[in-house]
Amino acid sequence: MINQEHKRIVTGDRPTGKLHIGHYFGSLQNRVKLQDEYETFILVADVQALTDNFNNPEKVKQNVREIVMDNLAVGLDPNKSTIYLQSMVHEVAELTVFYSNLVTIARLQRNPTVKTEIAQKKEVFGESVTYGFLGYPVSQAADITALDGTLVPVGEDQLPLIEQCREIVRKFNSIYGETLYEPQAYLGENKRIKGLDGNEKMGKSLGNAIYLADSEEEITQKVMNAITDPARIKKDDPGNPNICMVSYYHNLFSNKEEQEAVCSECRAGKRGCVACKRQLAKNMIEALRPIRQRRKYYEERPEEVKEILMEGTKKAQKIAAGTMERVKEAMKLDYFKN
Ligand code: SF4
Repeated sequence: MINQEHKRIVTGDRPTGKLHIGHYFGSLQNRVKLQDEYETFILVADVQALTDNFNNPEKVKQNVREIVMDNLAVGLDPNKSTIYLQSMVHEVAELTVFYSNLVTIARLQRNPTVKTEIAQKKEVFGESVTYGFLGYPVSQAADITALDGTLVPVGEDQLPLIEQCREIVRKFNSIYGETLYEPQAYLGENKRIKGLDGNEKMGKSLGNAIYLADSEEEITQKVMNAITDPARIKKDDPGNPNICMVSYYHNLFSNKEEQEAVCSECRAGKRGCVACKRQLAKNMIEALRPIRQRRKYYEERPEEVKEILMEGTKKAQKIAAGTMERVKEAMKLDYFKN
């Protein structure tokens, strides 16, 4: 029943805000590369976004289109990659219910990724987390398996989620027979990018991000406010580029020669921070230009964006329907079938 040769990537984003350069270096860049090698499905995880935004559905709705445009802007080709809406693939909800019998509450509570996220979401849940949030790894397992996903690109911090999914698949297959594909984590070149304020994480909620949709003016303004070596008061004070976010981003957006000049001139007190920032802003604007241009193209064509999402969703629905047929047959839920 299971074709061992089958390879399909399933990955996605929660529509809770626009995507930023942290996402670009962390996953999107990799995603674009992989679409040439694998059949790729990108889900816009609106149901998952509601697990901790259940009281703000408008925010989730508004960001669905932004997420689609960000993915297209970085170079996801709708002819190679399928972008679809999670809430429209109803089999995911059904599978989540079936899988919930195969996972214990204690196992979910022990999942390191879930534990960390619950700790970070105290302002949403207070002391008591919801059933929906605690169980989101189960619905994620449903997302992956509904589409017969075999490869899931993740960062190291998300490995426990894939392990949880694999456990569910193994348990399902051992009880009901070989029905589901057991996915593997794909650890690509996931770089974690620090925020403009030096925070280890660039985050939508931390206010320290450069968005793929930012204009040239916004990029310049944000770079001019980035954290530099605080000990540097005058231009000829020797600086330490290792503790400066401007130098950190030069290493991502400037060529080798410029990176070396930044370091040596900063250490020698021969470089002004303002000029250093301006140069970075210029390089960043240039590097992100193709993304901004593609994004603008789609911003001006909302009907085309909608069409891409609708067509992608239809394709995903078809695959999920096939999976559900196998699952129901395996679970003896095919009462009216001859
Ligand atoms: Fe940072 Fe550049 Fe200023 Fe050095 S000269 S502290 S690298 S902004």
